[in-house]
Amino acid sequence: MDTVSDITEMQRRCLALREAGKRIAFVPTMGFLHEGHLSLLQEGRKQGDVLVLSIFVNPTQFGEGEDLDTYPRDFERDESLAREAGVDLIFYPTAETVYPANYCSYLSVEGSLTETLEGACRPGHFRGVATVVAKLFNIVQPHVALFGRKDFQQLAMIRQMVRDFNMPVEIKGMPIIRETDGLAMSSRNVYLSDDERRQSLALNQSLTLAAELARGGESNAHKILEVSLKRLTTEPDLVVDYVKICNADTLEDVEIVDQRSVMLLAVKAGTTRLIDNNYLIAKV
Ligand code: AMP
Repeated sequence: MDTVSDITEMQRRCLALREAGKRIAFVPTMGFLHEGHLSLLQEGRKQGDVLVLSIFVNPTQFGEGEDLDTYPRDFERDESLAREAGVDLIFYPTAETVYPANYCSYLSVEGSLTETLEGACRPGHFRGVATVVAKLFNIVQPHVALFGRKDFQQLAMIRQMVRDFNMPVEIKGMPIIRETDGLAMSSRNVYLSDDERRQSLALNQSLTLAAELARGGESNAHKILEVSLKRLTTEPDLVVDYVKICNADTLEDVEIVDQRSVMLLAVKAGTTRLIDNNYLIAKV
């Protein structure tokens, strides 16, 4: 396994691999790897002849006052987990290499896929994500790239960006990996105090309650949302950013739930912002 930080060198290596007929599978991350990331790598190992992991805490997707400076980092640990997962190449650039002096090009994103939910709470977030993912695709030239459904809206936006810009890459969405008690794995979970960690179980529990209602025949989105919101607000230290039921393809709110309905939520536990989601009826 090699680690490359230089963009030209990374691009040269990936192009050479493509020319040699190798199928490149790519997993972009911000590092501090957990089992969610590892599940993407495991599938990536099956999807390609060469498995590429990028580790880059992308400054342009963080807003002012967000956790860019404190985002957990441990490259040595990531490197050994990546080796165990069968990664061939790690791309580990610095922010100055990705966004050098005079950098001026950003992807502009608009519409319900990027302006609702996370887009409404974190203005500029998806512009930063789209920009860095497009850059990473240009550098790594993957045949297939894997993303987690944990970041449901991000995955939807990337699929759309690939369609919009006719990017020659297949996007594969992967299931959410959870702790045994149901909390969705996230690099940010390390921020949680014991008490916040306990209260954060309400996220998955409110999604489960909603799915039980929907699968039991309740189709009124408002009624389902009420029950989920109530579960979240019983916890004293959780502040709800949003809980919504949306169409999985457009991310517009729905009134009546159906097979394409997904519940998405974002909650602050103290200073830690957590997101989660689940299809209400469809089992994935
Ligand atoms: P991040 O490092 O948080 O930017 O995540 C990198 C990739 O891992 C993204 O495609 C995420 O959706 C995915 N991911 C993060 N957490 C999980 C999880 N619990 N289960 C599955 N995929 C995840």
